[in-house]
Amino acid sequence: MFNPNTITRFNNTETPFYYYDMEVLRQTLQACHIASAKYGFHVHYALKANFNPKVLDMIQSFGFGADCVSGGEVKAAIEHGFSNKQVVFAGVGKSDKEINLALDGDIFCFNVESVQELHIINDLAKAKNKTAKVAIRINPNVDAHTHHFITTGLDENKFGINTWQLDDVIIALRACSNIQFLGIHFHIGSQITDMEVYKSLCIRINEIQDWFEDHGFPVKILNAGGGLGVDYHNPDTNTISDFESYFKVFKDFLNVKPGQEVHFELGRALVAQCASLISRVLYVKNGQKKNFLVLDAGMTELIRPMLYQAYHEIENLTQHSKLKTQNLAYDVVGPICESTDCFRKDVELPESFRGDLIAIRTAGAYGEVMASGYNLRDRVQSVYSD
Ligand SMILES: *Cc1c(COP(=O)(O)O)cnc(C)c1O
Repeated sequence: MFNPNTITRFNNTETPFYYYDMEVLRQTLQACHIASAKYGFHVHYALKANFNPKVLDMIQSFGFGADCVSGGEVKAAIEHGFSNKQVVFAGVGKSDKEINLALDGDIFCFNVESVQELHIINDLAKAKNKTAKVAIRINPNVDAHTHHFITTGLDENKFGINTWQLDDVIIALRACSNIQFLGIHFHIGSQITDMEVYKSLCIRINEIQDWFEDHGFPVKILNAGGGLGVDYHNPDTNTISDFESYFKVFKDFLNVKPGQEVHFELGRALVAQCASLISRVLYVKNGQKKNFLVLDAGMTELIRPMLYQAYHEIENLTQHSKLKTQNLAYDVVGPICESTDCFRKDVELPESFRGDLIAIRTAGAYGEVMASGYNLRDRVQSVYSD
């Protein structure tokens, strides 16, 4: 990812910044596009993973749809050229204003997360003399085998409608004259690397779609959500997620009936590997028990380690001629006035000095989008390979 020219460029750029390798992004999108098109599957990009304008423009150019979780994202998707006919809108707390915005935009589908929401969408659509197309987001109680902070498909999670409430959904659907039922939606968690999890999901989807059909509601859309993981430990040798195996699980185990469409919502797997957070060492603190590298980037630029205990590879990009042969262990920390502002403890690095460039890898998903102004910090900049 970093050739000598890139590093020279970094040396002449104010840190911290996100560095986007647009070629990595292009290759990832291409791989996903080919693997999904093979089975005629539809992929919506989950904007919340990264809504950097240049990233959105490239994703849109591949013909992907958009998966949005706020009115702002619906607006951004349409402004960046995503077709409104390919916009899906999920979220456990859609406000009336956001629902109205999506109704005005004639989006493809609302992914509805409660019976009450179904009635509200129906009322708002009626007021506009429109019909809202919906999929019911169902909580299938499938364990994603990922970190519990990013699990969404268990009974105890706030997302979706639990299966014991589906009788109420049917009653509501029959009562709502301004709702068109398209199908069923699932999203069970993020950073999922075990394909058995998706096989279990397929089996649950098959049962649930049969249940809807038995109750007089034919299912046109099966939306399996997203969550495909990336390799945070090997960004250079395993850069692109195994889209082929992922889609093949659904091809093999999902009972797709004639006329049905299969949809996906991928975020992380499309964008995580294309960016690194580049920062400089401000200070080296050698303690009795610990060595600290204090960077000029912190949780205000990348909060994943502090928010989800997430792992990122950390590299020193600066070459020194005379170095100790052995690596040292550093706690790599940020400048923010919070004890949790630590990227990782005991990181093995070559001896490091003030001014060294540090790359925090695989930062393209849930990185820049979560940047904050806490401590009145400047907004993090972006730099692109092209
Ligand atoms: C966040 C989200 C996604 C994307 O998740 P990834 O793990 O980034 O693939 C898909 N669908 C919904 C409803 C989401 O909230």
